Amino acid sequence: MGRTVFRNANLLDGDKPSRPDTTIVVEGDRVTEVTAGNAAPRAGDTVVDLHGMTLMPGMVSGHYHAAYSMGGENKIGMSAPASQTALYALANTQKALRAGYTSLVGAGTFYDVDGRLAEAIDSGMVTGPRLIPSSRALSPKVTEDEPAEGVPWLKCWGPDDFRDAAIREIERGARIVKLFAAQGHAMRSCREMTFEELKAASDAAHERGARTRAHVCGAAQVMKCIEAGVDIIDHADWMTDEVIDALIANNRFVLPSMYTPWLSKDDRTLDGAEYYDEEDFEYMRKKVPEANARGVKFVPGDDFGFFDMAPHGDYSKELVCYVEQVGISPLDAIRWATKFGGEMTGIPDLGTIEPGKLADMVIVDGDPSVDIRVLLDPARIVTVIKGGEVVSGQLPVPQRAMAAE
Ligand SMILES: [Zn+2]
Repeated sequence: MGRTVFRNANLLDGDKPSRPDTTIVVEGDRVTEVTAGNAAPRAGDTVVDLHGMTLMPGMVSGHYHAAYSMGGENKIGMSAPASQTALYALANTQKALRAGYTSLVGAGTFYDVDGRLAEAIDSGMVTGPRLIPSSRALSPKVTEDEPAEGVPWLKCWGPDDFRDAAIREIERGARIVKLFAAQGHAMRSCREMTFEELKAASDAAHERGARTRAHVCGAAQVMKCIEAGVDIIDHADWMTDEVIDALIANNRFVLPSMYTPWLSKDDRTLDGAEYYDEEDFEYMRKKVPEANARGVKFVPGDDFGFFDMAPHGDYSKELVCYVEQVGISPLDAIRWATKFGGEMTGIPDLGTIEPGKLADMVIVDGDPSVDIRVLLDPARIVTVIKGGEVVSGQLPVPQRAMAAE
């Protein structure tokens, strides 16, 4: 199998500060060598001179709604037919790929779109990022006689019902079961799920090698989710020091999703802004940097596609928000989107550029650890590589190494 040698790279490996003049070798779907300076290529190598451009890991959006296409220029309703929803979902994930996102973790789908789309991508039938498929959101009924269907999510009552629904969704292709565990963070009314309901859904998922994630705010309810075994904590607005301790002790990933709350705070006339409370954002603006400094594993991802204010494609604006509005360093924001995001997918060897890791990489014209805004410019996302293959853009003028070189 031929080797591709990237020379003169500014390596941003997903963890450490950038290293100029680095050589990275890719063989098949893996990174096999990372060396300081310009290592001599072997005969037959494909040599790509990056002329100082940045090579960074493919990014991960950890809260992704492939099936949500209710915002932006081309939109469809929440109850659009499954076929149309699926086609839009494919287009959304391809937008993510072009923006440098090579992995997406589902946070709630419509129908069984995530599972089927992930199958189509994994089989190579369509080009797209790695997609960890989500279930429809399981939402707690307020009264037992409420209908279960009729909204894009699935309504459940009691532990047995949550367990059965989780199993059905996993059978329909979900690898992550999404739970609406509490109101807050744009969710205006939601009965709090009980500990028994959270545990029943999580146990059912774990018994089948799947995971759960919960939309949850408020310290007590976040603690309940952690204890019940919920794997991924979405939002965690109003996290306290006790919550931070528990998140670290239990190695939970947290998606603060502060981009839509920030937009809403800044302009109350935006579509959807009325669902967000300014105080929630201001609280998190203080707490998230503290939690980050203490070692909580944050991952980016927000409700892109749900509102006009956050159309699909705008994903890196969330990173800019963390840097410019929340005070997270660009390097930390990149670590959230790469190293931590890679870990959160559950796919081994993803998220950093090191020997042995999967070659999911982005060539960026500019250094995002110096100026995070370079990630917003499509012209600067030069090439996107997934598992060693170019999936968007082109390699900058590759050459063939001669035996004499
Ligand atoms: Zn969401």
